[in-house]
Amino acid sequence: MRVLVLGGTAEARALAVALQGRGVDFVSSLAGRVTRPRMPVGQVRIGGFGGVDGLADTLREGGFTHLIDATHPFATTMTAHAVAAASLAGVPALRLARPGWAGRTDADTWTWVPDLDAARVAAESLGSRPFLSSGRQTLPHFAGWIDRDVLVRVVEPLDGEVPPRWTVVLDRGPYCLDRELDLLRGHRIDVLVTKDSGGAYTSAKLDAAAELGVAVVVVARPPAPRDLVTIDDVAGCLSWLAATGGIGDEPRRPEPPR
Ligand code: NAP
Repeated sequence: MRVLVLGGTAEARALAVALQGRGVDFVSSLAGRVTRPRMPVGQVRIGGFGGVDGLADTLREGGFTHLIDATHPFATTMTAHAVAAASLAGVPALRLARPGWAGRTDADTWTWVPDLDAARVAAESLGSRPFLSSGRQTLPHFAGWIDRDVLVRVVEPLDGEVPPRWTVVLDRGPYCLDRELDLLRGHRIDVLVTKDSGGAYTSAKLDAAAELGVAVVVVARPPAPRDLVTIDDVAGCLSWLAATGGIGDEPRRPEPPR
């Protein structure tokens, strides 16, 4: 068995730890977007594959027997490529995706929207001091907000200019409630814009918004790919590998000293 893990998420790093603990031969793949990425344990390759054909070639030439797409729930291109390339290479594939935030008790108090343009329209009607925490790639959708105080949080410095009234904060999760409360209070935020990324890494902003009565606009997840089984935790991935390739259910015990 040799597993290619498409990563860039906390779940992919947790999967790498679990695979290493079971002695599975695996390689994690990162897109290379972040200058100093959080690295998974084990072997890592960085950079795009060159589309579907490039990924299919990597699967064949690298001798991979399994593909696990553990990219972010909004990394839709990579997921679509994973489905197509796995089919071309004849390699079984699985999606690891953390549950979204729709199950939270406060989820029905938020404004759910289907896309970023709808998020902009909704946020304009709900507040005048937005906090954009939807990621660097989403910012062009809000570029018209030159007449308002906007707080943006991104991992990497932005390439281009931003409007003079925007404040850009560089930070990366995990975030805690106290600091999120300080941030929202400090910038007098009245509306939070986020994608339904899910998980605990970045959810403290939602707790802070609830505590302060800040409106929340959530971009719903893109539809799950039809041809790819999705599992929402690492244990499920291990069970799938056990069922399809025969890894043990328990972590490998360390060798006794000789
Ligand atoms: P995307 O739009 O779905 O993918 C665009 C292209 O980037 C892919 O076609 C592929 O290039 C390359 N790519 C993406 N993920 C890759 C990976 N793990 N390994 C190698 N190449 C990869 O992806 P994205 O939304 O920009 O996300 C890029 C990375 O950031 C992913 O690893 C994702 O897990 C992580 N991330 C994304 C978000 C988000 O909100 N989208 C949030 C947090 C982390 P080729 O076609 O050349 O193979």
